[in-house]
Amino acid sequence: MSEPSHLRGTAASLGVAVGRARLVGWERRRCPRRQIEPAAVSAELARFASAVSSSGAEIEAAKRELTQKHGPTYAPILDVHLLMHGDALLVDAVSNVIREKRVNAEWALSEVTERLKKPLLEDPSSYFQERASDIDHVKEHLLRHLSGQQPRKLNVDGPTVIIARDLTPADAVHVLAPPTVGLVTEHGGGSSHTAILARTFGVAAVVGLGPLPTDIEDGDLVLVDGFSGEVTLDASPEQRRAAERRRDRFVAFLKAERPRNAVTQDGVSISVTANIELPTEVAAAVENAADGIGLYRTEFMCLDRREPPSEEDQLDLYRGVIRAMTPKRVVFRTFDWRGDKRLRLNGVAGQEDAWLETQIRAVLRASAEGPVALMFPMIATLTEFRAARARVDQCRAMLRDQSARLAPLPVGMMVEVPSAALLADRFAKDADFFAVGTNDLAQHALAVDRHHGHCVAGPLDPAVLTLLERAISAARAAEIPCSMCGGMAADPVSLGLALGLGYRHVSVPVGFVPLARAVIRNVDLEAAGQAAHDALECVSADEVRELLLERLEPSLGALWKAQGLV
Ligand code: PEP
Ligand code: MG
Repeated sequence: MSEPSHLRGTAASLGVAVGRARLVGWERRRCPRRQIEPAAVSAELARFASAVSSSGAEIEAAKRELTQKHGPTYAPILDVHLLMHGDALLVDAVSNVIREKRVNAEWALSEVTERLKKPLLEDPSSYFQERASDIDHVKEHLLRHLSGQQPRKLNVDGPTVIIARDLTPADAVHVLAPPTVGLVTEHGGGSSHTAILARTFGVAAVVGLGPLPTDIEDGDLVLVDGFSGEVTLDASPEQRRAAERRRDRFVAFLKAERPRNAVTQDGVSISVTANIELPTEVAAAVENAADGIGLYRTEFMCLDRREPPSEEDQLDLYRGVIRAMTPKRVVFRTFDWRGDKRLRLNGVAGQEDAWLETQIRAVLRASAEGPVALMFPMIATLTEFRAARARVDQCRAMLRDQSARLAPLPVGMMVEVPSAALLADRFAKDADFFAVGTNDLAQHALAVDRHHGHCVAGPLDPAVLTLLERAISAARAAEIPCSMCGGMAADPVSLGLALGLGYRHVSVPVGFVPLARAVIRNVDLEAAGQAAHDALECVSADEVRELLLERLEPSLGALWKAQGLV
């Protein structure tokens, strides 16, 4: 390659990485059909069985390594791959094809996996697309074992950027450890397992770039911007130095920011809590001195499982998180099965109720450990919220009968469906607190898909701002706490507007906490309030953004520029 090329994807893990490319999983394995003699069928079946068992053993080993390094939380990510190794749908089906069509194992495997993927690929949601990649990952593993190849060892010195079409979670465990500093993938979304692992390992990541140039080679220089989602290949020396400066500045900035407060220019203290997806992220929340966990997306522990962990297992996990955060509060959100986070089993619908009860019981029991709250996602009607509350009361009564130790548990709701924002004043009479989800609120108010649209521009639309204003005003009038926990709070430009609208508590991805504090310290609430007032009168999200850049520039410009955020 000669010309620097800039590519853009989804920023999936904050940070800037400068490193040498290491291509992972790019060997396209072809699976030509080979007819075999009847007498050779049993040998072929045995060859396939042996590949299944050695591939399974390799994933088991990756799971052990993951557990050793990062505790038990992430192990279920690999369970889906292990499950497929013993799944009749895959293993028996491949054996049947070998037997019935008298073909080689590679071709049979390819035929069966394409068949299994077909219905998943017909559903455009990223959840089903990711499950289809799970099948591809298992196929790749099995093909490698059929070919007898060993995984390639990392053979580079110094900072490395992993370049992959997609990275299986099992491979991610191996390759995201040092010296890896960056990750670039053609496929995948910000909520994929691999993105979660990149955040866990503190690796700057850009995912879902689409087809990468075919001439990237091991050892090429790659710059990864986990803020903007930009990837630069074959950078010039100046570009490289600039990226290194940004990287070093960001690392130093994070270090320096950790102990600092979030008091605005006019002396108002803003609470900055962390959003977490998995319990191990709590360590980063503590390290970044977050004011608590404002949103614990508990459904992430269920991805790729056939059912949620048992009440006792959830209790253990929840207690661990609460103990780590005490005396700061942890807000548990009940499983949010909607959107792209559905479980892989079709039978989820019938089970949700029982699972919800198990979860509520676990949170109630964990409440004895330290300050907690519980909230329900996607509440659209008052009837729904009242039923949810009643459910908590029933569980509490049952547990009391069993003499469980319980503490008071505030019960709140996400305001993320436009109907809830519109009637926020009524909901505020029933809910102990609100947490406003700008991701879903924007998607449902504007009828856009949050996974494919402009998630950041969405909340800035004046219609969404009007809903946001309604929610905070209703909460204030009813004197209940109200936080903002969607992506708007984690956007350094729109955060000022959130404060201007009246929000005094924001909850942001755990890695964003120090940056949120820095933004807040530069905001003058009076100016932000005036900007919010004028933003409500704008005609489009673009106009709002322009207005914010102009109004907040005097106080935030230096910070924005230093971090390259705008
Ligand atoms: C939201 O919708 O803004 C939100 C915080 O919830 P999630 O992103 O988990 O849907
Ligand atoms: Mg939501």
